[in-house]
Amino acid sequence: MRRVAILLGILWLGIVLPGTGSWGQAVPARNSSPDVFLITIDTLRADHVGCYGYKQVETPALDALAADGVRFTQAFTHSPITNTSHITILTGLLPSVHGVTDFGVPLSPQHVTAAELLKQHGYQTAAFIGAVILDSNTLAPGLDRGFDFYDNFPKTDSKSADGRNNERWGRVERRGMEVVEHAEAWFDKHPTGPHFVWVHLFDPHDPYEPPPPFSEKYKDHLYDGEIAYADSAVAHWIAFLKKAGVYDNAIIVVTGDHGEGLGEHGEETHGLFLYDSTLHIPLILKTPLKTSGAAHHAIVIDAEVRTTDILPTILSATGIAAPAGLNGESLFPLIEPTNIEQTASAQPPSNRDLFGETDYPLRWGWAPLRALRTGNAKLIEAPRPELYDLQADPKELKNLYAPGSSKTQSMQAEMAKWEAKLPPRSNSAKSEEALPDPKDKIEVQNLLHNAMLASDDNRSSDARQFLEKALQIDPTSPTAFRQLGELELAAGDFSKASVHLKRACELRPEDSTAAFELGEALAKSGDGPGARDALESGLKLQPSQMPARLLLGQVCLQLKDAKNAADQFEAALLVDSNNSEGRLGLAEAQIQQSDFAGALPDLEAFTKSDPRSAAALRLLARAYRGLGRVQDAKRAEEQAGAVEKK
Ligand SMILES: [Zn+2]
Repeated sequence: MRRVAILLGILWLGIVLPGTGSWGQAVPARNSSPDVFLITIDTLRADHVGCYGYKQVETPALDALAADGVRFTQAFTHSPITNTSHITILTGLLPSVHGVTDFGVPLSPQHVTAAELLKQHGYQTAAFIGAVILDSNTLAPGLDRGFDFYDNFPKTDSKSADGRNNERWGRVERRGMEVVEHAEAWFDKHPTGPHFVWVHLFDPHDPYEPPPPFSEKYKDHLYDGEIAYADSAVAHWIAFLKKAGVYDNAIIVVTGDHGEGLGEHGEETHGLFLYDSTLHIPLILKTPLKTSGAAHHAIVIDAEVRTTDILPTILSATGIAAPAGLNGESLFPLIEPTNIEQTASAQPPSNRDLFGETDYPLRWGWAPLRALRTGNAKLIEAPRPELYDLQADPKELKNLYAPGSSKTQSMQAEMAKWEAKLPPRSNSAKSEEALPDPKDKIEVQNLLHNAMLASDDNRSSDARQFLEKALQIDPTSPTAFRQLGELELAAGDFSKASVHLKRACELRPEDSTAAFELGEALAKSGDGPGARDALESGLKLQPSQMPARLLLGQVCLQLKDAKNAADQFEAALLVDSNNSEGRLGLAEAQIQQSDFAGALPDLEAFTKSDPRSAAALRLLARAYRGLGRVQDAKRAEEQAGAVEKK
C-alpha cells in the first residue's frame, strides 16, 4: 500500500521540480495519466442508496462501483444548493470562499477549477449537465471554465409566441440517459486520453417523475424511482467506459451535491436547512489500477469527509500539484495510512470537520445559516442556534444549545476558527442579524416552492392557491407577492401584476428581479414614467441586468427621452456589442435626436448582414431621409415593405 504514496511522491516531484514551472503552466500529459470521470447525482441522500444499506431501492451500478472501490459512509456537502455545491466540488473551496452562494453569481476567475487544472496538464475536458441550473450561459456563469466542451441547454427565444416553452424536458432538465448519451457521443469523437469528463444526473431532484418502468415499480416512492433510474444511467456510462477500455485505469468519483429533506424538520426539498437530511451524501471513489499498483476493492471508510476533499483527491491521483488555499485534503491518506504509527496503533482515520453554509434563505428574506459538524456534534448558527449530539440523536431532534454549556462554547470556538478562514462578510451581513429564522418559515417556503413548480408546469390556478395560502400564514412575504406578480405577468394581466410586484418591491427593496419585473408590468400597462423609475432602481441594484437595460432604453424611446435611451443602449452594447436590440435601439435614439449621420453606418452594416430585418430597414430609410437622400430612403422602404409582405 505504501507504494502508492511513494509513486505519488514521484509524480508530484515531476510537476514541481524547479524549471518545470508551477501548477499554472501546461505540462504534457503522460500516457499513464488516469482518465478522470466525475459523476454527480443531484439531490441524492446517502441513506437512499443500496450500498448504504437502503433496502427499498435497487442501485446495482453504484453498488458495483463501491465493490470496485472505496465507499465513504460519512461524506457531507458544504452546501445544500446545486450550483454552490457543484462549484465547491470543482474548486475544492468553501461556498463563502468561492463566493457563488446563489444562482447566477459568476465564478470569479481567481478561483481555478478542476477542469482548468486538468486541461493545463493535457486532459481533454467535457461536462454534461442535466439541469439548466448549471447552464453556464444563464444560472451558472463561469462553471464552464476549463472545459473544452460544456453541454449547455439550447438558448430559448424569450420572444417566442407565448413567451414560454411548455415542455420541461429539454428546456430546464434532461433525463439522465440523455446526459449520458451526449457524453458517450463526445467520447467517441475524442478517443485520445487522458479525459476529464463530468456527468451530472439531475433526476432525483423534484418533481419526482421517473420514466417507465421506474414510474410503475416505484409508484409509491417516486424519489427512489428517480434514484433507481439515475443508477441505470450510471450503469450505461460505466458499461460504455469498460467497452472503451478506459475503466480500469480511471479514477471515478460518484457523489451527490446534497440530499433531500423528505419532510424531516418540515423541509420537503433542500436548501433552507443544514441538517444531515440534506448534507449527508454518498461518496464512492474507484481508484486507478495503474496509479495504485493495485486498485482498492470494497473498502469502507467511516471517517467524516467533505466534498472539498474531492478535488485534492483527483489531483493526488493524477499527480497534479494542488493550488494553494484549497479548503479540503486528499482522501488517499484515509484509505492508505502511510504513517507507521497510525497503522501500528490501528487507530481509525480521524474525522474531518465539515463547515456547512446556506445563503438560500436570503432569497426569501430570511437569515442565512452556518453549521459546524465534527463527527459527533453539530452546531448550527441561526437566530435561534442549535446544538446536536449526533451519536445519541442522529436525527437532530433534541436541541442542546445552551450559551453557558461547555460543549456549546467549545463548538462556538471551533466555528470561529473556520469563520476566520472566510473572506469578510458584505455590508448587508449586519442587517441579516434581524432576519427571521428559517425554522419559523419552513411551512411558507414549502408552499412557495410548490407554487414555483406548479407555475413551471403552467398549472397557474394551483400556483395561485399555494401563494394565497402562503400569504395567509405570512402576509408580508415578499416572495409570495413576487411570484403572484410573475403569474399575472405571464397571464397578461399587467395591472394586477403591477400591484403585486409593487408590494414585493416595498417589502424587499433590494430585490432587483422584482424591480425589473415591476418595470416590465408597468411598461406593458402603459405607465412609462412608472416603468422608468422601477427599472432604474433595479439597475442600481444590479447594473449588469441586460434585459432590464434594454427595456429601459425602449421605455425612454417611448417617452421621447432620446438622450437617456441612447445611454441605456450604449451601456447594453458595452456588455454585448452585437446585440440587435441594443444596436437598433441606439439607432432609433440617434434618429430621435436628429443625429442621422451617427445612426447611418451601423444601420448600413446591420441591414447588410441581416437584409431580412424590416425594423432595421425602416430605421435606415428614416436616416437616409434625414440626410436628404430621398432615393436611398425610398429603396430601403421598398425593401422593408417586401420583407414585411413575406
Ligand atoms: Zn442539487
